[in-house]
Amino acid sequence: MNDCWRAAAAIASDAGREFEFGDIVAGPLRDDEVLVAVKAAGICHTDMVARDGLLGVPMPIVLGHEGAGIIQAVGQSVRSFAPGDRVVMSYLSCGECRECRVGVPASCARLPELCFSGGRPDGSHAVQQQNGRALHDRFFGQSSFATLAVANERNVFHIPADLPFELAAPLGCGVMTGAGTIWNELDVQAGSSVAVFGVGAVGLAAVMAAAAAGAERIVAVDRLPTRIDLALALGATQAVNAAQDASVSCVRPVDHAIDTTGNIQVIGQAFASLGQRGTLALIAPPPPKQQLNVNAADLILGSRRMLGVIEGGGSAGGTIAHIAHLHSRGRFPLERIVTRYDFSSINQAMLDAERGKVIKAVMCMP
Ligand SMILES: [Zn+2]
Ligand SMILES: [Zn+2]
Repeated sequence: MNDCWRAAAAIASDAGREFEFGDIVAGPLRDDEVLVAVKAAGICHTDMVARDGLLGVPMPIVLGHEGAGIIQAVGQSVRSFAPGDRVVMSYLSCGECRECRVGVPASCARLPELCFSGGRPDGSHAVQQQNGRALHDRFFGQSSFATLAVANERNVFHIPADLPFELAAPLGCGVMTGAGTIWNELDVQAGSSVAVFGVGAVGLAAVMAAAAAGAERIVAVDRLPTRIDLALALGATQAVNAAQDASVSCVRPVDHAIDTTGNIQVIGQAFASLGQRGTLALIAPPPPKQQLNVNAADLILGSRRMLGVIEGGGSAGGTIAHIAHLHSRGRFPLERIVTRYDFSSINQAMLDAERGKVIKAVMCMP
């Protein structure tokens, strides 16, 4: 059981610099850990800000938090998974705090420590560099920019046999965040109206989730015509190009709005789009020193609400299973937003994702 395994990893060594490939050794596994042979890993915005040194994670580090693959080995106490199981990895939560106990692990009090400290809580590491140099890991409890990743029983989830790894990978964060916010937090119902501000991967997932929930009016707001067209193809009923219509006043009134941009001005527009008793969900943090400028009278007199949502809220397992089910019925066409890259092209994939050239870059491991 307590073996070690050799693997290749893309290592972020200096803020803002490209990834460099290195040889790592994974293991030995703790009792509740699993070893995953990574077959695909998506690139998410948080990987970019972490690589650029803006998240405060220690370097050098193996990033990656949308990994999918095959269980290769399990720790002594793992009961839900066995070698050969197809899984997707998501964020790690503690399972013991109040939020975890009531079934909302996305709000786990220990999430920062478990996902961003660069190691296990006791300071140890699940992977090492073969050359003996320091290395940090456990990013989101997985560090999946590697051919092998060590996760925990708590943050891996089974995926259907017919769901390709490259489509399953983004369910671990970006796609789950958009869809989960619609279903778990906004509780969008049939016949309601939803505005999605920013239709990248998270926003397009929100559009697909709102369509699946039966929302009658789904407004996609973005500045890129290609994204707007894709949103319309995936279920949006109205599109607004914010580059041409700066006020976006035609969006109002909606029952629900979701901001995926983290841009203070856009958040203001999203709030202004709410009708009576409307709710705005924020999923992307603006820069730390920026303050929201919301008119409290508009909030109160309109009986409106604002929510901060982490990873789509609720539980990752439930959201992932629902997306996979809808995909199998042709109602959540993940293939429309995914662009495949070889793992060796990680720096190109990052660049394309940053420049908005692709919606969701997913790397496929050999
Ligand atoms: Zn917890
Ligand atoms: Zn993410």
